[in-house]
Amino acid sequence: MTAIIRMSELYAPTLKETPSDAAIPSHQLLLRAGFMRKSATGLYSYLPLGWRVIHKIEKICREEMDGIGSQEIMLPILQPADLWHESGRWDDYGPELMRMEDRHGVGMCLGPTHEEIITDLVRNELKSYKQLPLTLYQIQAKFRDERRPRFGLMRSREFIMKDAYSFHTDAESLHKTYQDMYDAYGRYCERVGLEYRPVAADSGQIGGSVTVEFHALAESGEAELVSCKCGWAANSEIAPATPAPIAYEATELKKVATPGVHTIAELAEFLGCPEAATAKAMVGKTGEGKPVILFIPGDYDLNELKAERAFGGFELLEDEEIEKLGLPKGSIGPVGLPEGVLVGADESLRNIAHWVVGANEDGFHYVGAGVGRDFDVDVWADLCTVKEGNACPECGAPLTVTRGIEVGQVFELGTKYSEVLKATYLDEDGKEHPYEMGCYGIGISRTMAAIVEQCNDEYGIYWPVSVAPAHVCVLPLTVGDDLVQPAAEKLAGELAELGLEVVIDDRDERPGVKFAEADLMGWPLQIVVGKRGLEAGEYEIKVRRTNEKRTMSFDEYNEWHAHAKRHPNAADSFFEQAGLKA
Ligand code: ATP
Ligand code: MG
Repeated sequence: MTAIIRMSELYAPTLKETPSDAAIPSHQLLLRAGFMRKSATGLYSYLPLGWRVIHKIEKICREEMDGIGSQEIMLPILQPADLWHESGRWDDYGPELMRMEDRHGVGMCLGPTHEEIITDLVRNELKSYKQLPLTLYQIQAKFRDERRPRFGLMRSREFIMKDAYSFHTDAESLHKTYQDMYDAYGRYCERVGLEYRPVAADSGQIGGSVTVEFHALAESGEAELVSCKCGWAANSEIAPATPAPIAYEATELKKVATPGVHTIAELAEFLGCPEAATAKAMVGKTGEGKPVILFIPGDYDLNELKAERAFGGFELLEDEEIEKLGLPKGSIGPVGLPEGVLVGADESLRNIAHWVVGANEDGFHYVGAGVGRDFDVDVWADLCTVKEGNACPECGAPLTVTRGIEVGQVFELGTKYSEVLKATYLDEDGKEHPYEMGCYGIGISRTMAAIVEQCNDEYGIYWPVSVAPAHVCVLPLTVGDDLVQPAAEKLAGELAELGLEVVIDDRDERPGVKFAEADLMGWPLQIVVGKRGLEAGEYEIKVRRTNEKRTMSFDEYNEWHAHAKRHPNAADSFFEQAGLKA
């Protein structure tokens, strides 16, 4: 029998007002329902209900990891800088890495991810091909000093992650574990109740080439996803865009006075052409610090990640820096550029022989600027952000755009870390090779937020049964009497005995307050016990997900109870009968 949670004792302070700095439902509701509190920017304390949910998510995650033969360990959060120097990431990681010194002046950092320390852990003792493959995981706090911590648990500075690492003799073995992980991630998302989609993704800081992100679908998601009916799906960061620029009528270079024109929309209107007939200029600098101007069709947006890949790093310049180059913002073009300025252009513009561009003179544009005649392009690349309706790279059908929250990512790393960290094993002939490695992360705390993003309505949260802080809330309409409260206590006791996690709202509060808080906190099932119902021989039950209410006679309850008792999992049986999936 599980302990009954008493609302009279529970530490779950609720808020009437929505906190002003909470912009999305999960952030608002987890604060309002008393699941967590902000301790400082991007740092949260979990209160009892929030921590119960985290435990449930972790349990599901553990079961999935253990189920594919991954073994749980625990690594230190605090790590020596030396290892990060060895891998090269001390310099590469950037300001997200929280760095410090210990009392002896030794460089340290708080782990944002644990490739270095785990590779160091195994490299001395995992020496034979006979010991491979091996997969280890941990569930632990991670620290990233994010540029913009926001949306509560969605992007915090300290967060809970499950991170797993696998070691192999060859790519085939790595691929098998990667596939097992991929499948386990799908089951994890399903079991915690998420509507999700795996998408092809960028490998970012972690490295490697084969990688997929698992996204919870939600309007509030920071990521833009594209997908096709053929099954292909990707993060828009890496999805190829297929703009269709239009040729403007002019083929001779002609300078046109365009007074007051500064935007693409103004230019298109001025010339009486579609935006797709103009070329938009963006000024930045490459990884080596060289100035570069990028041109894309006027009706598209630049994808900075693609620019980063094309130029070994890319950063847009501030207005003052653009001025320093002698370029007039709003009228920038490729003709007659100062020495040393690179020109990059989107692939799609290759099909357009004559462009509409700025004339590098405030208030003037060129029409009919000829590629190869009036100016040259140094680098052609896919630079645009994909749009709804762009062609699927697999089958050509139009793509659909949705938004998602990244809850997990799996990577085939190859030998990236094992080579630099000299982590090797000996093969059958005693020859030394670096391990093939994989790494696999799940944001546990972000999962909790993602669930709330998908499972909320005007009244609050409705938790999926599998992760709910408790299964059922018994609501006596009055307390302190000799009918209602004892009946409610008895009911709560019986349900707890069945193995259900039970909350009883034993507070001397108005029914309206109890109902509102039960809805806000999101217990999957509510059972209301009142004087009139008891006299009529019935309870009222409410399924929170649908907000459907109905009466349940004592006979019916007894039947449910008896059925649940015979069932291998009483809670599952109870929920099945209530029309809820456990
Ligand atoms: P993002 O692109 O959202 O910054 P990431 O790709 O850098 O995330 P990974 O290194 O793949 O993150 O980490 C594994 C998982 O940890 C992510 O899929 C995500 O669920 C979670 N996570 C990453 N950063 C944060 C954060 N700042 N707050 C909460 N969860 C996070
Ligand atoms: Mg990621």
